[in-house]
Amino acid sequence: MLFLGAKTHWKSLGEFEGISTFELWEGEEDLKTLDLQARAIFNKNIKMLRIHSVEKTHINTSEGFEAAKALGKLALDVGEKMRVPIVVHAHSVGEDKKKTLERTAENLDKLAQKNIIAIENMPHKSLRSGFRTEIFWHPIDFDYLFALVDNRNVKICLDICHFFMSGFSYEELENFVSAYADKICEVHVADVKFENKSGSEGTQIGEGSINFEKVFDILSAIKIDAGIIPEIANGHINHYAAEKVALQKLREFAVKKQEI
Ligand SMILES: [Zn+2]
Repeated sequence: MLFLGAKTHWKSLGEFEGISTFELWEGEEDLKTLDLQARAIFNKNIKMLRIHSVEKTHINTSEGFEAAKALGKLALDVGEKMRVPIVVHAHSVGEDKKKTLERTAENLDKLAQKNIIAIENMPHKSLRSGFRTEIFWHPIDFDYLFALVDNRNVKICLDICHFFMSGFSYEELENFVSAYADKICEVHVADVKFENKSGSEGTQIGEGSINFEKVFDILSAIKIDAGIIPEIANGHINHYAAEKVALQKLREFAVKKQEI
């Protein structure tokens, strides 16, 4: 089942009326006290809560998680205490790809002993953020990972915008979703302009080229509870104005398809 949700700071949960699925994006100070807030948060009847990484976790470095920065460690501690998934980004440029994937698989397996870890597909490159990666932008890397790691706690965060930014088709999306229907526990959503894929990350829903009717049809194959979370560029500005617009648009698609 899919649940429409918002990515926010726990102090801003009240901004999103009618929403009870959240992905938290916290700084170090807030993460330090977040476990203390967990009870209060759950008392608000929240259906699901995920904590976003934490790019600083660097799970694919040779030192693995041991080398993670304080923020990554804190997020993992909180995720373990609250039993909520941590969304992580693994990326790498200019290293031996096979070796990097093997190391990442090993580190993910280690982390997933205590935590639920959702690894996100990234864009091959994004001009907006200057991001570039050779790993986990292509579905084939997920196939390689899951051939190496057999751990129920390793899940997937599917980013629709990243998927199309990397040049894939609806058919490839359908194949990916059906292959991992029992692992996709989070879906990030934004539009992208196909004529400028790497330069239009986080475009408002409906202002780019993605056919969301089609995307929601495909997503209906997901077999486990998953949050659908908009990630619009600068979406947090002015009391999350752009995020709220995105939620409204997603609701229109969603009500036609399923109860979210
Ligand atoms: Zn994302």
